[in-house]
Amino acid sequence: MAVTRFAPSPTGYLHIGGARTALFDLLWAKKTGGKFVLRIEDTDQSRNSPTAAKQVMDDLQWLGIQWDQGPQVGGPAGPYYQSQRLDIYNRYIQQLLTSGNAYYCFDTAEELEQMRKKAAGNKQNFTYPRPNKFPDASEVEKAKAQGKDVMVRFCMPAGEIVVEDTIRGQVKFNSNDISDFIILKSDGFPTYHFACVIDDELMGITHVIRGQEHLMNTPGHIALQKALGFKTPVYAHLSLTVSEGGGKMSKRDKAKVLKDAIKKTEGLDKVKLASVAQISATEFEEFLAGDSMPDGPAIDLMAEYLGIELPEINIVDFFKSGYLPQALVNFIALLGYSSPLDKEILTLQELIDSFDPTRFNKTNSLFDRKKLLAFNMEHIKLLSADELLSRYKDYLKAANSPAVNADDILLKRILKAGEGARTLAEIDHKSRFLFIEDNKIEYNQKDAEKVLLKNNGEGIAMLAQLKEKLLALDKISEESIENLLRGIAEQKQVGLGKVAQPLRLAICGTMVSLPIFESIDMLGLKATVRRMERTIEKFANKVAKEIK
Ligand code: GLU
Repeated sequence: MAVTRFAPSPTGYLHIGGARTALFDLLWAKKTGGKFVLRIEDTDQSRNSPTAAKQVMDDLQWLGIQWDQGPQVGGPAGPYYQSQRLDIYNRYIQQLLTSGNAYYCFDTAEELEQMRKKAAGNKQNFTYPRPNKFPDASEVEKAKAQGKDVMVRFCMPAGEIVVEDTIRGQVKFNSNDISDFIILKSDGFPTYHFACVIDDELMGITHVIRGQEHLMNTPGHIALQKALGFKTPVYAHLSLTVSEGGGKMSKRDKAKVLKDAIKKTEGLDKVKLASVAQISATEFEEFLAGDSMPDGPAIDLMAEYLGIELPEINIVDFFKSGYLPQALVNFIALLGYSSPLDKEILTLQELIDSFDPTRFNKTNSLFDRKKLLAFNMEHIKLLSADELLSRYKDYLKAANSPAVNADDILLKRILKAGEGARTLAEIDHKSRFLFIEDNKIEYNQKDAEKVLLKNNGEGIAMLAQLKEKLLALDKISEESIENLLRGIAEQKQVGLGKVAQPLRLAICGTMVSLPIFESIDMLGLKATVRRMERTIEKFANKVAKEIK
């Protein structure tokens, strides 16, 4: 029975990599009939944002990754916010100080920098020089009185530390290369390393599953566990997922796409863009020059303003791009892990039931966006009409779609007509024509030339004839529209496209839309005719000019 934990530092939105860690925590716990704990590691006061923990929890719940113990649900080892556990950490700090396994220190950042530089100058690895005699209480008081920073460091024991990792096997570290690290900071908060070790013990964590970047922290954690008489949990360090560009999936991927777009946009009002992003002109210039990355939502705000799409990195990005949580869960479960089942489209329950911790891969995995799109398409198909409607409504709200106020009957029809779409965004975009006024339709120039103006405006002529025939129908339905269009195509001995494409362009302004018969029926006869008339009016004189 495994007790696992996901322990995010709430500094922003839940990253796709964090979601993957949380998912494996859940799978491992559920498969073994154990418990999954959520712990908020908010001990870095300079980096935590008060809303981030809530956002992370919302994102986990949206994915269907529900914790058994933690914030909101409680549990036997709470509180589950580290910032509320300072008295617990202090008790253990005292224990280590008393047993001689930790000591006070007062170095400033500048002094530490000097030591590092000196070591680098001598081509040595920097490790903190442990004093022969540890500062006593009076020295601590004196330092405090002088306004110095007071911290506590852990005495790293000498010798070799072996990490038994489920995925990587034995990984050996030489303790001599590891500094006496800080466990209590000058602001009275423990460091991540310390709080993590204490809480893993007190929360009864048996299995620590986390990203590969934490492997190098593990020998320090094991040394702390030994000094405190704690058990060492089973470790599994997940391999990295890389983006198609080769690097780590990070905000940099977004920044790159954004910068390219900014550079390509002619006559861009940079002052306006910086103000949209809520950053200063200097920050904006530094960002463009590649020297820095603005914090917070600046990058997303700029992209929204420019109307461009950025590669999704955080869970909320995928939500806003119209992905289903089921598809994401399925997809991330197969990153660095191979399922024993001989199919790829899997539900959370199937992932739990078939979970096998011996099937992790050591090598990096590629975040293949095309594959994710294909998974999303399959999961859209798997939902019942009601489930899909409910997901779609959530998506419309998040995307600020004009379709958000449409009634369920219309939305269900749209979803039916949008069958086979890869994302919910695709369905939304293809059906936007239903939610704008007739005179706001913008025509795609290339499409208009192709289907309306070519061959002396044969598309326009077709529209004029079609309009009369449509008006003559006594009742419209998908069927009557289909019969009418097919009938005309047959009579004129042309393909259905020659009849349907001008009509599609007239009602949507583009060739990318839902199937035409359903589209006309949903839009209604009156609006269809109005849009046809507007199109004829707008393009007829262009035909006349071309003929001249
Ligand atoms: N708070 C750490 C992080 O977000 C957790 C690392 C761990 O799982 O031990 O990276």
